Amino acid sequence: MPSDAAVDRLEAVKAAIVTAAGQAGRASSEVTLVAVSKTFPPESILPVLRAGQRVFGENRVQEAKAKWPGLKALYPDVELHLIGPLQSNKAGEAVELFDVIETVDRPKIAQALAQEIARQGRSPQLFVQVNTGAEPQKAGVLPDEADQFLAECRSLGLKISGLMCIPPAEEEPALHFALLEKIARRNRLEIISMGMSADFETAIKFGATHVRLGSAIFGTRDYPA
Ligand SMILES: *Cc1c(COP(=O)(O)O)cnc(C)c1O
Repeated sequence: MPSDAAVDRLEAVKAAIVTAAGQAGRASSEVTLVAVSKTFPPESILPVLRAGQRVFGENRVQEAKAKWPGLKALYPDVELHLIGPLQSNKAGEAVELFDVIETVDRPKIAQALAQEIARQGRSPQLFVQVNTGAEPQKAGVLPDEADQFLAECRSLGLKISGLMCIPPAEEEPALHFALLEKIARRNRLEIISMGMSADFETAIKFGATHVRLGSAIFGTRDYPA
């Protein structure tokens, strides 16, 4: 098999995950690597699929819809995560295409997802995004409102499996990871999606079950997404 820079980096981050898990006294099998392929074309994704990676993240419904049905036809066991904000008018497409939606963050989205899940008979796993830094420009429920929002989702019949966060870029991420872990624990949620290319080792130390890595695998993105 010809060597591919992304495949080399994939192997390197998998090794780094094993090391970080070991240092945290955790089994590396507790940590799922979500390869974030946003902005990269199918030609860039295929070598990573061939190398055995099966869990991928995209942040835009339209972009994922253009790229993934073809790739999923070749690799039916792919698990595709939506990691970007969801608009309620895209809930139908999101339920159809994604296996995990990590960004449930407000009642309107919860309602739209509940309707679509009932209508399509397809149930992606759902995580609630928490805006741990309470940043006005960032999606997610506020930490203080997370418990209430989780109860609201339950009352709509939605099963929420985990939490997700994106810490503020300029702050020490550990505090945010610890906060998300605490909210997950008190709500008895076992899945915690946190940690990106720059801070996944810290996230693993704080209990991440899913780390979302883009540039560490695919390289620098040409345009921000
Ligand atoms: C882009 C993105 C990532 C990956 O970011 P990298 O720094 O490239 O690893 C992870 N999570 C979310 C929500 C993203 O939008």
